[in-house]
Amino acid sequence: MNKLAPVLMSWCLLSASPQAQWADRPTESAPEDKPHHTAHGFRNVHPDYREKNFGDFLKWRWQQRGNKPLRSASAPVESVQPDIAFLKSNRSDTTLTWIGHATVLLQLDGRNILTDPHFSKRASPVQWVGPKRLVPPLPALEDLPEIDLVVISHDHYDSLDLGTVKALRNRSGGDRTLFLVPLGLKRWFLKQGVTRVRELDWWEEYRSGDLAVTAVPVQHWSKRSLLGRNRTLWAGWVLRTPTFRFLFAGDTGYTAHFKEIGDRLGPFDAAALPIGAYEPRWFMKDHHMNPDEAVQAHLDLRSRLSVAIHWGTFSLTDEPADEPPRRLREALRNRLVPAAEFRLLKIGETLRP
Ligand code: ZN
Repeated sequence: MNKLAPVLMSWCLLSASPQAQWADRPTESAPEDKPHHTAHGFRNVHPDYREKNFGDFLKWRWQQRGNKPLRSASAPVESVQPDIAFLKSNRSDTTLTWIGHATVLLQLDGRNILTDPHFSKRASPVQWVGPKRLVPPLPALEDLPEIDLVVISHDHYDSLDLGTVKALRNRSGGDRTLFLVPLGLKRWFLKQGVTRVRELDWWEEYRSGDLAVTAVPVQHWSKRSLLGRNRTLWAGWVLRTPTFRFLFAGDTGYTAHFKEIGDRLGPFDAAALPIGAYEPRWFMKDHHMNPDEAVQAHLDLRSRLSVAIHWGTFSLTDEPADEPPRRLREALRNRLVPAAEFRLLKIGETLRP
């Protein structure tokens, strides 16, 4: 069974496939004003971006042989029991709770909003093999308040979890929870019986009353099955009310996108920025920020308060699961950014930003 794990990793999380070498080329039919569109899907647009090919993936796997990161017996991240009664009844305060990995509960303007909800035991197409959750999610799925809105960053198994989507669908009777997804993903949701779903391209906006939600460009990729890569788009999400601006960066490498998002939609009252899954750099850099780059993104966005996500929950890459917070503290010191501006939360911890 263990022999299958790397294979699963290869298509669900991090790697490249033989198709990747040609599937991403811009084509003549890509609209000129949308350089991230191709005839069969999407691509990254930053000039420094380097697509990884199957040879790169094999090189990484080869280098990993006998060089597994040390896994400590204790959980890499602390947990705290959230105040469930408060979260369920809160209609007035803006709060942000880190549930684990890229899952955040944002309470804004009386709405309950989830980012990349994932409550399953593994980040994998199947629940018997694949990257295993190191720390339980808090609050648990059954303790969540009624969810009004879900934003999804992309289709990888650590961000888009079938079991969780089905549970949220059943919970809301199919019609309370609205899913906002990047272009191309609506079909997948309809197949799961989720009918309240809207797909958005980069810079497109969804409005509901005082709330504006914008899909914003980040640098990543998509793949959920053996065939096809970058057929669906990847995105971050900006949620704005007249009094509060929040960015969920999803899963991304560091690029000038952050400066552009900051200039167009910032400054931000809060941002959830990924700090994990960055080693080895030669392979991961294009798709995953390290803590130092996350601090730069925090500055580019002009974020008043950032929280670290995408670490400590699933072991996906070569760095030890408890390394990202150490590297983040170091990066904050080096750049003279107060630690209170970029918080490392416990799983289940609630902030009032
Ligand atoms: Zn991903």
